[in-house]
Amino acid sequence: MDHFFQHKARKRFGQNFLVDENIIERIVRAIAPKEDDRLVEIGPGQGAITELLLKRCPSLTAVELDRDLIPLLQFKFRDYPDFSIIEQDALKFDFGSLAGNGQLRIVGNLPYNISTPLLFHLLGFRGKIRDMHFMLQKEVVDRLSAVPGNKSYGRLSVMVQYHCRVQGLFPVPPQSFRPAPKVDSAIVRLVPHATLPNPAENEELLERLVNVAFQQRRKTLRNAIKPLYPDLDIPALPVDASRRPETLSVKEFVELANYLSTLDQ
Ligand code: SAM
Repeated sequence: MDHFFQHKARKRFGQNFLVDENIIERIVRAIAPKEDDRLVEIGPGQGAITELLLKRCPSLTAVELDRDLIPLLQFKFRDYPDFSIIEQDALKFDFGSLAGNGQLRIVGNLPYNISTPLLFHLLGFRGKIRDMHFMLQKEVVDRLSAVPGNKSYGRLSVMVQYHCRVQGLFPVPPQSFRPAPKVDSAIVRLVPHATLPNPAENEELLERLVNVAFQQRRKTLRNAIKPLYPDLDIPALPVDASRRPETLSVKEFVELANYLSTLDQ
């Protein structure tokens, strides 16, 4: 029956379909779905991961942008009454609407072209998310889990680690997909903190600070934040302003943002 739904992978939707059964099993084992979980899959594609997920947890909502894939998925999973598909752009989707009183477990082999904005979009629903397991470009997983001083450490590391515990799980080679992507991939687990370990008084200010700090990585902290705060009393800052921003921990960024928020009042 599958040949009725022959689907040509579309580059503009970032379609690289998983074909390696061992990797699919390893991903599902890492997710360890339970029967009463609320699973949400972003970009199910042709259902490679969906199939194994449904075997363990028959209630799953998929968010898929490519409308040509919807009939294929509906047919393939017709025996699962609690499987549903939302035909939408995940970047615009209100994930909170699926949570009810529970918490979501979000999974996906994400389209790499939108992965960073999608991660930021999802952080907006962090209170309603128990955990997230994603396949991403390995380089992005390196950035998510990077520690201060590492060349991959930047805005994405600080902002995601502010909200979540990040755990890089395992690499996935290009041959595991059809068509094979040009880059290496990896699986990452993100667990939103139940209580933020380093809460910022003003998260918008923290974001603005982290943004300017990493715009020119080679500048000192003092020079990086000068455009935002030209009259700053440098010795009063809670961190040494002659340091490079890329050496600051999440905690130090928050301390600095909290100090700056007292000036904004
Ligand atoms: N999960 C499948 C697999 O592992 O074989 C497909 C993964 S493929 C890398 C990415 C999937 O995300 C495709 O099915 C694509 O159509 C879908 N997609 C692309 N952009 C999307 C968006 N903005 N919102 C939701 N789904 C999207």
